[in-house]
Amino acid sequence: MISVGLQGNDGELVMPQQDDSHPSNGLFDDFEAYRTPTSADYRRVLTTGMVVLDTNVLLDLYRYNRQTRDDLLAVLIKIQTQLWVPRQVVTEFWAGRDLALMTRRDSTRDALTSLEKTARGSVDAVTNWAKSIGLDKSATTELTSVLENAYRHVRGTIEFHADDTGMASVRDTTTDPVIEALKRILAGRVGSALSDPDHAEAVREAERRAKEKIPPGYRDDGKPNGRGAGDYLLWEQTLREAQHREVDVLLVTRDVKEDWWRRTLSVTHGPRPELARELKARSGRRLFMTQPQDLLRLGREVLDVTVQDESVEQATRLERPIRRRHLAQARAQSIARADGVCENPNCASPPFSREASAKLLQVTFLQSLAEGGKDDPENMIVLCPNCRALWDYGRGRGGAQDGGGQVSS
Ligand SMILES: [Zn+2]
Repeated sequence: MISVGLQGNDGELVMPQQDDSHPSNGLFDDFEAYRTPTSADYRRVLTTGMVVLDTNVLLDLYRYNRQTRDDLLAVLIKIQTQLWVPRQVVTEFWAGRDLALMTRRDSTRDALTSLEKTARGSVDAVTNWAKSIGLDKSATTELTSVLENAYRHVRGTIEFHADDTGMASVRDTTTDPVIEALKRILAGRVGSALSDPDHAEAVREAERRAKEKIPPGYRDDGKPNGRGAGDYLLWEQTLREAQHREVDVLLVTRDVKEDWWRRTLSVTHGPRPELARELKARSGRRLFMTQPQDLLRLGREVLDVTVQDESVEQATRLERPIRRRHLAQARAQSIARADGVCENPNCASPPFSREASAKLLQVTFLQSLAEGGKDDPENMIVLCPNCRALWDYGRGRGGAQDGGGQVSS
């Protein structure tokens, strides 16, 4: 029956008769995951549902600067009564905390060491040059002290920010500000461990799902020491709690892999439909998912928590630092390979000087990322402005950027 809205005798709309032999389903039945959440949905789940934090959300507190960290903590405090953390997350938090601390400390130490070396080199260069032309002592000192002051200022700022997050004392859990905050916020909000038989059963189920590519967690299959089952353990613990409470669930995670999210290329749309269906089957309720930067935004827009734009930006930046670095490297390698010469074999332009090629040569993907091309030098071509224009024209883009295709900047 497809006729909808027939006019009845009295002019009222008459809905089609339902045939009892067939269940009556609508567009979103079993496809709830495709429904775009409204502000009201988010408000409801943030105030009456269960907000589940993934391990990376907790560990990111060590990667943020103080402002971002305080803003996220403020949001967590605001939704404290709805927070719930699976036991698996706490297991992974403690296992990952040492590394999170050391990574942060190492990057500070690397920066300081490298600056010290550069500072010495710069002062030596000036001093040697001054000697060579016989510059008098006070003029030399004036120059070198400008350098020394500048380096001192930068080093001081780095040390301030590093220390700002309490890095000197954070290894001690009694003085770590992150632990101090989480201890209060999560008091009484951490789930219990599964019983031994249930745990063993869940690990077997995780293996079965990994083989059959059933979300979540199959992308982690093969991680050592049984860590491949981590995502599924988190999920099973969440399902049990949701079943017990019969409330909607908002899962906050920075993990944007396709075994959690419905994705198109690199864009995340929402939870995998299978996950939404599974939660619905177990608890009768709805699944929402967001990334930390969205939680910050929601905290501001839906709950009136003060959150700085910079905090949202920093949380967003943390998402894919590795990929961006990789792309920049691939681009630099391509430019080096071209060595000042446009890579179009029919190009009429003469070779470019080093300065000119840095400014003018452009790196383009042979096959765009959107078409499944790889982001490495083999899939890149270096073109002069003329050939680049012809290339764009030939691809029917008329020079327009396709988002992923243009990597020159
Ligand atoms: Zn050319």
